[in-house]
Amino acid sequence: MVNMIEYFRFMPKIIHVLRKHIEFENGHILFMDAPMCFIHAEGILDMQLEMYRQLGPIARRQIYHSAKQAGKKHGELALRLEKQSLEDLIKTVANYSIISGWGMFKVLKVDEKNADIEIEITESVMAKLYKKKSHKEKIGVDDIDWYVCGLFSGVLTKVLNRDMESIETHCCINDKDGKECRFRIVPKEKYVELEKERIFRGRQNKKKVKSGD
Ligand SMILES: [Zn+2]
Repeated sequence: MVNMIEYFRFMPKIIHVLRKHIEFENGHILFMDAPMCFIHAEGILDMQLEMYRQLGPIARRQIYHSAKQAGKKHGELALRLEKQSLEDLIKTVANYSIISGWGMFKVLKVDEKNADIEIEITESVMAKLYKKKSHKEKIGVDDIDWYVCGLFSGVLTKVLNRDMESIETHCCINDKDGKECRFRIVPKEKYVELEKERIFRGRQNKKKVKSGD
């Protein structure tokens, strides 16, 4: 198990907040008055695969930007939590994500001055499903989790009140035995640089696969 010290430090707080803010009413679950739904993770994946089938590679940008909009709603909720430092707020959101079933989150870096955040997910539920489905269906989900990237950029756009973009700098899909996915979230103006690095790395990975390294 990773990140257990952080996990235990924050969990009582998360459970306290959940108890305080969750209400059940007429078939709805309300969290801070916002309706929440319990959905099937594989359904989220199938929705993405269907977009790939219909739109081709352009789907990845559509997935990213749609998830970014969804992430903004979560960011708005995060801003309504009790006042805390940026680092603690991001850790709180990361711990919500753990108990919501997305995998084990670890906040690697919070550089508030430069608005540069790094987060690692071990055993990302989406990455596990991507591995399974992309092998099975040979659908080009690429080596990036566009959906989770979009969510991160949306949440942090709201939390930092600045247009943020996110990139997956390392994905466990590219590792035979690895379980970690790492994400960097930066202001929009820094994103082009990161995207260039990602494309370069992608080419290197493909070369490695071809040469069997
Ligand atoms: Zn990944």
